[in-house]
Amino acid sequence: MLEALNPQPQDKILQLIAMFREDDRAEKIDLGVGVYKDATGLTPVMRAVKAAEKKLWETETTKTYTGLAGEPAYAAALTGLILGEGHSARAAAIATPGGTGAIRQALELIRLARPGAKIWLSNPTWPNHPSIVKYLGMPLAEYRYFDVATSGIDFAGLIEDLNNVPEGDVVLLHGCCHNPTGANLSPAQWDEVIAVLRARGAVPLVDLAYQGFGDGLEADAEATRKVAAAFPEALIAASCSKNFGIYRERTGILIALGTPERKAVVQGNLNFLNRQNYSFPPDHGARLVTMILEDAALRADWQAELEEVRLNMLNLRRQLAEELRKATNSDRFDFVADHRGMFSRLGLTEAQVVRLREDHAVYMVGDSRINIAGLNARTVPVLARAIAAVL
Ligand code: PMP
Repeated sequence: MLEALNPQPQDKILQLIAMFREDDRAEKIDLGVGVYKDATGLTPVMRAVKAAEKKLWETETTKTYTGLAGEPAYAAALTGLILGEGHSARAAAIATPGGTGAIRQALELIRLARPGAKIWLSNPTWPNHPSIVKYLGMPLAEYRYFDVATSGIDFAGLIEDLNNVPEGDVVLLHGCCHNPTGANLSPAQWDEVIAVLRARGAVPLVDLAYQGFGDGLEADAEATRKVAAAFPEALIAASCSKNFGIYRERTGILIALGTPERKAVVQGNLNFLNRQNYSFPPDHGARLVTMILEDAALRADWQAELEEVRLNMLNLRRQLAEELRKATNSDRFDFVADHRGMFSRLGLTEAQVVRLREDHAVYMVGDSRINIAGLNARTVPVLARAIAAVL
């Protein structure tokens, strides 16, 4: 049996990590992998997470199974963080292993409810989106998103493509901090996208993986909230990996918004999907998130630390844009300061990305996506000079 297997294509980012590890140049800079790093290159455990873990260790009396959907308190707390109040009557939800698990379950729910529905993805998008859609055998389409010339949004192209979405298809939208580009819709552009998709009768699937990494916890949820309010039905796949720094705990949620009358049936189907795929969802990360969100002091401390993280990345963006101005004697890279989230696509060619790696020990993804958090005050000017050298 096993001899029938073909090798799977290597994940580009994991390949990059391996190459970085093997590079023995001391000055090497890793801008590839998508985790937050502080100025010392560490991905820290957040203070509130540590405190919640300690409290949990002291008070936890059992590790018996949770419910199939996870703990109701987790869904309530996280739905509140994402959507604010007022949706509980129409929101069914399941805890999932990370945001990836939430996306996977969202797609499986779509396949159950509307077999044959096409999934529309932004071009470009997080590579795992098309990968999972294809793996599930679901039809896929792309809508224009990024304007290579300006490193901003190709809004005319995007609207034109969304105007061709057939009724009943699903459109995946990045709630904030678009990965891989860093270019995001303005509030007015969101309104227009929502109006078009409503007119088309499309169903939105929002991927919210970076709430708190862009313009702030509330601001980053704004678009998702608008979607929730505007559509009779919407799916939201959210991740706590980044904003709680609990990547390996695999903590996510899928929220399915519909009518209150359908909620019980939708919830039953979500539970069924958890049961088929892994039975009970992981609990540790979800429990920490619940404890933090329900405790005023822990929540305040978490928010303060998350805000430090956000401002640190914003600062690095401003510094990098400034250094690139100096190094290239142009405003070509000013967009770096306007982008939001952990990533920016710089608009370099593959050959330039290779030269950055080979000649300057700077590692970034082949499409010239950089992880802003991989930089610090010392390496920002180094990167700017290296980029200027390969232009
Ligand atoms: N969506 C996007 C856009 C992402 O970038 C990521 C993480 N890289 C995820 C979802 C899923 O994150 P996780 O499964 O680690 O929670």
